[in-house]
Amino acid sequence: MCLFCEIAKGTIPSKIAFQDETVVAFHDIAPQAPVHVLIIPRKHIESAQALTMEDNDLLCHMFEVARKLAAELGVADSGYRLITNIGKDAGQSVAHLHLHLIGGKTLNWNN
Ligand code: 5GP
Ligand code: ZN
Repeated sequence: MCLFCEIAKGTIPSKIAFQDETVVAFHDIAPQAPVHVLIIPRKHIESAQALTMEDNDLLCHMFEVARKLAAELGVADSGYRLITNIGKDAGQSVAHLHLHLIGGKTLNWNN
Protein backbone atom coordinates (compact mmCIF):
# COMPACT_ATOMS: atom_id res chain seq x y z
CA MET A 1 0.00 0.00 0.00
CA CYS A 2 1.11 3.58 -0.59
CA LEU A 3 3.26 5.23 2.08
CA PHE A 4 0.90 8.14 2.70
CA CYS A 5 -2.15 5.83 2.87
CA GLU A 6 -0.25 3.97 5.61
CA ILE A 7 0.54 7.24 7.40
CA ALA A 8 -3.13 8.29 7.11
CA LYS A 9 -4.17 4.97 8.66
CA GLY A 10 -1.56 5.30 11.40
CA THR A 11 0.13 2.01 10.49
CA ILE A 12 3.29 4.00 9.75
CA PRO A 13 3.92 6.52 12.52
CA SER A 14 4.29 10.24 11.89
CA LYS A 15 4.15 13.47 13.84
CA ILE A 16 0.52 14.40 13.24
CA ALA A 17 -0.31 18.11 13.16
CA PHE A 18 -4.02 17.73 12.39
CA GLN A 19 -6.48 15.04 11.37
CA ASP A 20 -10.18 14.61 10.75
CA GLU A 21 -12.40 12.30 8.70
CA THR A 22 -11.04 13.35 5.32
CA VAL A 23 -7.65 15.01 5.81
CA VAL A 24 -4.41 14.28 7.68
CA ALA A 25 -1.51 16.70 8.17
CA PHE A 26 1.88 15.59 9.49
CA HIS A 27 5.38 17.02 9.81
CA ASP A 28 7.75 16.17 6.94
CA ILE A 29 10.45 13.69 7.90
CA ALA A 30 13.10 15.83 6.13
CA PRO A 31 11.97 19.42 6.72
CA GLN A 32 13.19 22.04 4.22
CA ALA A 33 12.33 24.92 6.57
CA PRO A 34 11.42 25.46 10.25
CA VAL A 35 7.79 24.73 9.31
CA HIS A 36 7.25 21.89 6.84
CA VAL A 37 3.96 20.05 7.06
CA LEU A 38 2.36 17.74 4.51
CA ILE A 39 -1.41 17.91 4.09
CA ILE A 40 -2.99 14.87 2.47
CA PRO A 41 -6.46 13.54 1.76
CA ARG A 42 -7.26 10.19 3.38
CA LYS A 43 -8.58 9.17 -0.03
CA HIS A 44 -5.80 7.92 -2.32
CA ILE A 45 -5.46 10.40 -5.19
CA GLU A 46 -2.24 10.09 -7.20
CA SER A 47 -1.62 13.80 -7.68
CA ALA A 48 -3.41 17.06 -8.43
CA GLN A 49 -3.55 15.85 -12.03
CA ALA A 50 -5.94 13.09 -10.94
CA LEU A 51 -8.41 15.39 -9.17
CA THR A 52 -12.01 15.43 -10.40
CA MET A 53 -14.99 17.69 -9.73
CA GLU A 54 -16.00 15.17 -7.05
CA ASP A 55 -12.98 16.29 -5.07
CA ASN A 56 -13.91 20.00 -5.02
CA ASP A 57 -15.02 20.02 -1.38
CA LEU A 58 -12.06 17.92 -0.34
CA LEU A 59 -9.60 20.27 -2.03
CA CYS A 60 -11.24 23.31 -0.44
CA HIS A 61 -10.97 21.57 2.90
CA MET A 62 -7.26 20.85 2.37
CA PHE A 63 -6.69 24.58 1.86
CA GLU A 64 -8.80 25.37 4.92
CA VAL A 65 -6.62 23.00 6.99
CA ALA A 66 -3.52 24.68 5.51
CA ARG A 67 -4.74 28.13 6.57
CA LYS A 68 -5.53 26.97 10.10
CA LEU A 69 -2.20 25.16 10.49
CA ALA A 70 -0.32 28.18 9.14
CA ALA A 71 -1.93 30.29 11.86
CA GLU A 72 -1.32 27.65 14.53
CA LEU A 73 2.33 27.18 13.53
CA GLY A 74 2.92 30.93 13.50
CA VAL A 75 3.55 31.58 9.80
CA ALA A 76 0.21 33.00 8.65
CA ASP A 77 1.46 36.58 8.98
CA SER A 78 5.12 36.07 8.03
CA GLY A 79 4.09 34.12 4.94
CA TYR A 80 4.44 30.60 3.67
CA ARG A 81 4.29 28.51 0.55
CA LEU A 82 1.87 25.77 -0.47
CA ILE A 83 3.39 23.44 -3.03
CA THR A 84 2.15 20.33 -4.74
CA ASN A 85 4.53 18.44 -7.00
CA ILE A 86 3.04 16.55 -9.91
CA GLY A 87 4.96 13.76 -11.60
CA LYS A 88 8.55 13.00 -12.41
CA ASP A 89 9.85 16.34 -13.68
CA ALA A 90 8.46 18.11 -10.60
CA GLY A 91 10.17 15.59 -8.33
CA GLN A 92 7.03 14.01 -6.91
CA SER A 93 8.41 11.12 -4.88
CA VAL A 94 5.20 9.88 -3.23
CA ALA A 95 2.27 9.22 -5.58
CA HIS A 96 -0.40 10.38 -3.14
CA LEU A 97 -1.62 13.99 -3.41
CA HIS A 98 0.02 16.23 -0.80
CA LEU A 99 0.35 19.92 -0.15
CA HIS A 100 3.68 20.99 1.31
CA LEU A 101 3.13 23.84 3.80
CA ILE A 102 6.55 25.46 4.11
CA GLY A 103 7.55 28.55 6.05
CA GLY A 104 9.32 30.05 9.02
CA LYS A 105 12.13 31.55 6.94
CA THR A 106 12.55 33.63 3.79
CA LEU A 107 12.06 31.21 0.92
CA ASN A 108 13.94 31.43 -2.34
CA TRP A 109 12.24 30.23 -5.49
CA ASN A 110 14.32 27.04 -5.39
CA ASN A 111 13.95 26.94 -1.60
P1 5GP B 1 7.31 15.04 -2.90
O1 5GP B 1 8.77 14.95 -3.22
O2 5GP B 1 6.56 13.81 -3.36
O3 5GP B 1 6.64 16.31 -3.32
O4 5GP B 1 7.22 15.07 -1.32
C1 5GP B 1 7.28 13.93 -0.53
C2 5GP B 1 7.69 14.39 0.86
O5 5GP B 1 7.42 13.33 1.76
C3 5GP B 1 9.18 14.71 1.00
O6 5GP B 1 9.32 16.06 1.44
C4 5GP B 1 9.67 13.70 2.04
O7 5GP B 1 10.63 14.25 2.92
C5 5GP B 1 8.40 13.31 2.75
N1 5GP B 1 8.42 11.96 3.28
C6 5GP B 1 8.82 10.83 2.63
N2 5GP B 1 8.67 9.76 3.41
C7 5GP B 1 8.16 10.21 4.59
C8 5GP B 1 7.80 9.55 5.81
O8 5GP B 1 7.90 8.34 5.96
N3 5GP B 1 7.31 10.33 6.81
C9 5GP B 1 7.17 11.69 6.67
N4 5GP B 1 6.69 12.36 7.72
N5 5GP B 1 7.51 12.34 5.54
C10 5GP B 1 8.00 11.60 4.51
ZN1 ZN C 1 -2.09 6.61 -0.98
